[in-house]
Amino acid sequence: MDTPGLDFTALGLRGDLLSTLTSLGYEEPTPIQAAAIPLLIGGADMLGQAATGTGKTAAFALPILERLDPDRRSGAPSALVLVPTRELALQVAQAFASYGKGIGVRLVAIYGGAPARQQIEALRRGVDVVIATPGRALDLCDRGSLKLDSVRTVVLDEADEMLEMGFIEDIETLLAKTPDSRQTVLFSATMPKRIDKLASRHLRNPERVAIAPPAKRSDDVPRVRQAAFVVKRFDKPAAAMRILDAEDPAATIIFCRTRGEVDDLAQALAARGYQAEALHGGLTQDQRDRVMGRLRSRAIDVLVATDVAARGLDVDHLSHVVNYDLPSSPEVYVHRIGRVGRAGREGVALSLVEPRERRMLAAIEKLIGAPIPIEKVPSIADVRMMRLERSREAIEDILDDPDQQARLESFQEIVAELLEDRDPETVLLAAFALAHDAAGGDVEDDDRELSAALDNDGKRGLPASWGTAPSSKGHGKAGRGMRDAGVSRPASGKARIWVSLGRKSGVTPSDIVGVVTGEAGLKGRDVGPVRIQEFYSLVDVPEAKARKVVKSLNHCTIRGRKAKVKLDQG
Ligand code: AMP
Repeated sequence: MDTPGLDFTALGLRGDLLSTLTSLGYEEPTPIQAAAIPLLIGGADMLGQAATGTGKTAAFALPILERLDPDRRSGAPSALVLVPTRELALQVAQAFASYGKGIGVRLVAIYGGAPARQQIEALRRGVDVVIATPGRALDLCDRGSLKLDSVRTVVLDEADEMLEMGFIEDIETLLAKTPDSRQTVLFSATMPKRIDKLASRHLRNPERVAIAPPAKRSDDVPRVRQAAFVVKRFDKPAAAMRILDAEDPAATIIFCRTRGEVDDLAQALAARGYQAEALHGGLTQDQRDRVMGRLRSRAIDVLVATDVAARGLDVDHLSHVVNYDLPSSPEVYVHRIGRVGRAGREGVALSLVEPRERRMLAAIEKLIGAPIPIEKVPSIADVRMMRLERSREAIEDILDDPDQQARLESFQEIVAELLEDRDPETVLLAAFALAHDAAGGDVEDDDRELSAALDNDGKRGLPASWGTAPSSKGHGKAGRGMRDAGVSRPASGKARIWVSLGRKSGVTPSDIVGVVTGEAGLKGRDVGPVRIQEFYSLVDVPEAKARKVVKSLNHCTIRGRKAKVKLDQG
């Protein structure tokens, strides 16, 4: 927030749309939004070059919503968005629904492979925006259910994909059914000749807006180790935690796109024993200063932030940047990773990439002039191995350090006593267990296979080189909180609280943290680790506060159910 950035208010959007954007946690428009929104509100035709991940959906959806007649009564749609796939139709419809919830937008997604009845029914009730794949749209036009004569705006989204899939004729037939006076907007990630031809036939003096892959390599790419992990959105929190566990960073900044994501992830990390806090534009200056102070003094080691809030942030000891979401442009990626690897230190930049964001990753690779290796999300077995390895290294360091010898000798007597009637190997095993627990302990299996979700459809649309999508297959189950979950007893100074609701009731770690901080007034950083079991949950809190927590939580409501709470006696 140090440097003022672009502002949604400057783009000509009305108040109720602006408040929706604030509630969604969007802090500033992406470059394509800043360029496209004013043009489209002004009624211009537009040829936009932008891939998934740039924020292109909001770039056309917000102007369409802005231009809707506030007193609309007609049942016929005033906007038609054509997309290549059913998946994208649903995604775009979801985006319209969230951006348009404040103005009661009526929409329908129309796509093949599903019964037409519901879609026809929705059209009959009346809609403002139709998001459709070309084939089914044409079909419903022919049946008389979809009428396009009131359409004011047509968007061709991912036009290159639609042409690739052979939809050109359907698109042209549909365009012919719309009024000549319409506004036409074409978005495409690439601009082959066929797109230009399509545009010259159907767009009128289009404005060109390109958030194109950068033409040349950037000269100031920081020297940091970079890697990417292909994960489904749903798996991102678990993947991020495993990656942090495997990396064991000194201090990390994790970038998310929205305030909501920042808050959710920071809470989930705190619930699993990380010293993590959120930084975004929704905090007051005072709150931000305090978070920054704690980061500088190393009281926290994970900062979860939006780009806007992290602007101007300058902390020398950061070792890792994690892109929980890819940024909306390659340039922002370079900017983000410039936060680490300062003063000759080794820096690491790790990115979680959704399968559909492959083009954005390619654009980033082009700008940095090097491929970013795709790595597997570590399996639970990998994380276990790495932790054991770290405990072993720590012991070897002591053995190899001449300065430690005197200290070791000071334990001779007690060790001799231990060995009196025990076998040395057993004593060593116990000592190793103690050291390992002190270093964070073992990890516990989770109940969910991270790979399962990926195998279902995470690989769809992956380029051949991504064929080996990250998978923990064959490595046992996937991980929950690693730092915490295997700890069999609370850490010293902490007490464990038992809560009568668990996974079966839909309870998540953030629910538990939320209720302990909300009802008992504890600070987020004092709460956790949290363990969610099938029928109950456990949460560790400072011993001194345990009774207060039990008292204030008993009979509180979590996920709509009354909870019973007691001190867990082990
Ligand atoms: P898209 O490129 O349209 O698929 O958008 C990619 C993602 O960025 C979606 O998850 C959007 O919700 C999100 N997004 C779009 N615009 C913004 C913004 N201005 N700030 C934060 N997130 C955004």
